[in-house]
Amino acid sequence: MRNLPKTIRTYLSSSLLTQAFAGCFVATHVPIIAVIAYVASGADISAQALLVITLLATIVGTAFAFIIMRHLLLPVGDLARGLHSYRVEGRVPHLPKTRDNDVGRLTDEVRALIDTLEDKLARLKRQAFSDTLTGLGNRRWLAEVVGSEVMRARREQRPLSVVVFDLDHFKRINDDFGHDAGDEVLVAIAETARRVLRPYDLIGRLGGEEFCAFLPTTTLKDAVAIAERLREAISALRIDALRGRSVTASFGVHEADLVREQFRDMLRIADQHLYQAKRAGRNQVHTLQARPSVLRAGSSEHSQP
Ligand code: GH3
Ligand code: MG
Ligand code: MG
Repeated sequence: MRNLPKTIRTYLSSSLLTQAFAGCFVATHVPIIAVIAYVASGADISAQALLVITLLATIVGTAFAFIIMRHLLLPVGDLARGLHSYRVEGRVPHLPKTRDNDVGRLTDEVRALIDTLEDKLARLKRQAFSDTLTGLGNRRWLAEVVGSEVMRARREQRPLSVVVFDLDHFKRINDDFGHDAGDEVLVAIAETARRVLRPYDLIGRLGGEEFCAFLPTTTLKDAVAIAERLREAISALRIDALRGRSVTASFGVHEADLVREQFRDMLRIADQHLYQAKRAGRNQVHTLQARPSVLRAGSSEHSQP
């Protein structure tokens, strides 16, 4: 074996076939070895004794073959069960390091494949849940996280409010300064929302120039005050690309009815208030009261070109 080239030696010592063959070879030769040993011992040879020795040695050889094959193939069963639960339940299997043979290599490859899949899945999930321009979560993300926030608010009997806001006359910004400037504005709005809102508020971009924030443990009154702070911060923004022109946004605020409303209902009602804020002249916060809850600082018609 020493004289064989290293690659062949490695192949022979780590090949499942070689290991299984070696085990079976020894196991099948146990009876003949036993008979030879018996004959060589010089004891009286009787047909009956030979029969008993052969029978016992065959049982020993069979047991040895079983143990060897079990030792070699058990990890294949573990691997199959692990893969099955990963496919059916999505549970990442614990695949221990096994022997240095084909089964060990197969296990290593499966482990590496699952790691790669999990990485890619996590990346895809992040992409599917976030808006690439602003880095905020998107509507799908909001729907997912708001679900558990609603459950927690119900359990702890705490309020939950939703603020939807939309930039005013944003089309004009694109038309006057170009799409890239428009994108810059959207990024600045997202940053402002992150800065003004609290770390535990859930902020997302619903699409286009419409954003949404879910405010846990926040009553309608507080949510209106927060929306008003954000409205002021947005209108105070100075963005180079807009060469002195300011941006404003209109807000719809709604405190969720946690018993009756789902994510979609909350958004729809907040959106109706946003629509009212637009109709009432933009750059303002609108909520359940008949009139805008916080009157705008100035008419949007003045702040827009
Ligand atoms: P309103 O005050 O009624 O909301 O008027 P608006 O002009 O803001 O609304 P409208 O729905 O007429 O136009 C929205 C514009 O937003 C049109 C679209 O080109 C622009 N927009 C949507 N998504 C993006 C984006 O990702 N980047 C840029 N730059 N513009 C976008
Ligand atoms: Mg708009
Ligand atoms: Mg819009």
